[in-house]
Amino acid sequence: MPFSIDWSVWLSPWVLGIFGLCIGSFLNVVIHRLPRMMERQWLADTAEFLQDQDMLKRQLGAADKRTAEITNFGQKLAADCEARPALSLSRPRSRCPHCGHVLRWHENLPVIGWLRLGGRCSACKAPIGLRYPIVEAATAGLFAVVAWHFGPTPATLVYLVAVSLLIAAALIDLDTTLLPDGLNFSLMGLGLAAAWQHCTSVSLADAALGLLFGYGALWVLATLYQWLRNRTGMAEGDFKLFAALGALLGWQQLLPIILLSSAVGAAVGIFLVLAQGHKREVPIPFGPYLAGGGLAALFFGQELLQLLYPMLAG
Ligand SMILES: [Zn+2]
Repeated sequence: MPFSIDWSVWLSPWVLGIFGLCIGSFLNVVIHRLPRMMERQWLADTAEFLQDQDMLKRQLGAADKRTAEITNFGQKLAADCEARPALSLSRPRSRCPHCGHVLRWHENLPVIGWLRLGGRCSACKAPIGLRYPIVEAATAGLFAVVAWHFGPTPATLVYLVAVSLLIAAALIDLDTTLLPDGLNFSLMGLGLAAAWQHCTSVSLADAALGLLFGYGALWVLATLYQWLRNRTGMAEGDFKLFAALGALLGWQQLLPIILLSSAVGAAVGIFLVLAQGHKREVPIPFGPYLAGGGLAALFFGQELLQLLYPMLAG
């Protein structure tokens, strides 16, 4: 059989680890650009809305003097938006944010490029964040662990995509306190599709219940908190991410995930308040902890359930 392909080689930890380096490099681009692309789109939408003469007439009446002011502001916003560089995930090529030097292919190699440059731009010597190689190495490591843990199975492919989405979501939330809908909905769709196609050990019913309970539980908690404390403690993006983890891993994993992520999040929050004088009112993004809890449940789900449910039962 000269044309048969041994898929187990391509799904081995080594091969997927190296593949993970390249995906990590792409995730760095997503983490940096996706929030900027979203912001540019919001600005463009707002500018268009403010210049909508029919809307202004409806809201203010035909003879209101503020119409001209608001239209002017809308035009200024549109001009600001035009002045921003047009970004997509593939264009333009990666460049130094300080001097605009376009990275050559060998400078763009995951981890190795950064090490060879000594963490500095080759043109202007401005430091390049240590986070870039860390994200690449961490993605590679997680890809290898997924391959090792789940073997050459369809589940491995599903969880490689899930791990990538979780890394991007966690770091975008850390940077901007935003959890892009695109990432959350992709993870939900992936979880449901994988269960439907029997790619993972999660049944479609467990995945669908995970989606519903995940969203509902955090919605109830956040509504109660807002009612008791009269301020918002969690954003809707967190509900969606938790729901997506429920869809991916099944409703049974929701409790371990929320307990783990709240415990770690609270510990880090207390540390930040004590050690760095982090203001209590400044929100700490919850997405990274949820993503971390989700990864823990992905690899240690059965162990976590065995630990948790006997404790609850007696
Ligand atoms: Zn530079």
